[in-house]
Amino acid sequence: MIGGESLEFEIRPNPAPVSAAERAALLANPGFGRVFTDHMVTIRYAEGKGWYDARVEARAPIPMDPATAVLHYAQEIFEGLKAYRVDDGLTMFRPDANARRFRESARRMAMPELPEQVFIDSLAALVEIDREWVPDDPDGSLYLRPFMFASEVFLGVKPSSEYLYLVIASPVGPYFKGGAVAPVTVWVSTDYTRAAPGGTGAAKCGGNYATSLVAQAEGIEHGCEQVVFLDAVERRYVDELGGMNVFFVFDDGSLVTPPLTGTILPGITRDAVIALAGEQGHEVREELYSFDQWRADAASGRLREVFACGTAAVLTPVGTVRSADGEFVIGDGGTGEVTSRLRRTLVDIQRGRVADTHGWVRRL
Ligand code: PMP
Repeated sequence: MIGGESLEFEIRPNPAPVSAAERAALLANPGFGRVFTDHMVTIRYAEGKGWYDARVEARAPIPMDPATAVLHYAQEIFEGLKAYRVDDGLTMFRPDANARRFRESARRMAMPELPEQVFIDSLAALVEIDREWVPDDPDGSLYLRPFMFASEVFLGVKPSSEYLYLVIASPVGPYFKGGAVAPVTVWVSTDYTRAAPGGTGAAKCGGNYATSLVAQAEGIEHGCEQVVFLDAVERRYVDELGGMNVFFVFDDGSLVTPPLTGTILPGITRDAVIALAGEQGHEVREELYSFDQWRADAASGRLREVFACGTAAVLTPVGTVRSADGEFVIGDGGTGEVTSRLRRTLVDIQRGRVADTHGWVRRL
């Protein structure tokens, strides 16, 4: 079917899958992003033809001409979400939200928009064929990575006329060793910014991550796990972390998170946290918050907790904030109560341990 809302996937099972014994060994300690399942999804797009050749096939290298457009001009987008093993089967968390964000990223990058149902069906088809790869570990999950790139062989600077969409999957263990949530130290980058107004900050495109790496390296040099980016115009307001959104928790129980003004990624975890915090009685304000105010509020004690949130680590407390000007600690540097409660609630919903009153959990 061409350009429509659904596609038939041709299933070509991997003739040489990983053995059950080897898979069990890999699943015992998968880490993050280094172990992959037996299959992948591929769908092609060509101008005038639409989406075609939807397949589930053996995971394999994708041969590429050296003049393939993406290698030169980085026209590429991706997504990230997880499938979970629950008592009575397999689930995904809010794949419809990722499908929508993938379309929005495509629009910003002048790429064709994959119909949302095809996106969701592609994930379901891969999880179904690779279901043995979804960890049993109550803290493990199968990380799904849909992505799409400009596959036309042409060196002209213009939107590609051909694209390849793929989904690969990678089993992941607990993000935190021992399941304990250790507070992180963050580096506030004052030299580098991530995204300017009118830029691609709200799109999930590879280029945003390429530009963040030098700041991330600077943070690591200073003993920090994550980087906080400030706005690109005044270098004053907090935008987000390299791969997570951020929330501030105050002594009156209210929460603040930077607004979606186009320079930060509209996180799906962020959206879930806003809803859950509201239900738990917190006022949540989406408003600008400056680095200076952050430092002052930490010193006065008005600011009680800070946490980062995203698919990979769910909610991560921020204990210490470091920059070229020195450092300060949030509360006692540990994990706050509001952070812990929100994290527990969200994980319980994702793992099917409590009722999903929001319709976020999709059964496979
Ligand atoms: N910001 C950035 C830059 C990210 O890469 C991510 C991870 N996708 C997030 C925020 C959090 O988004 P989500 O909650 O949808 O994973």
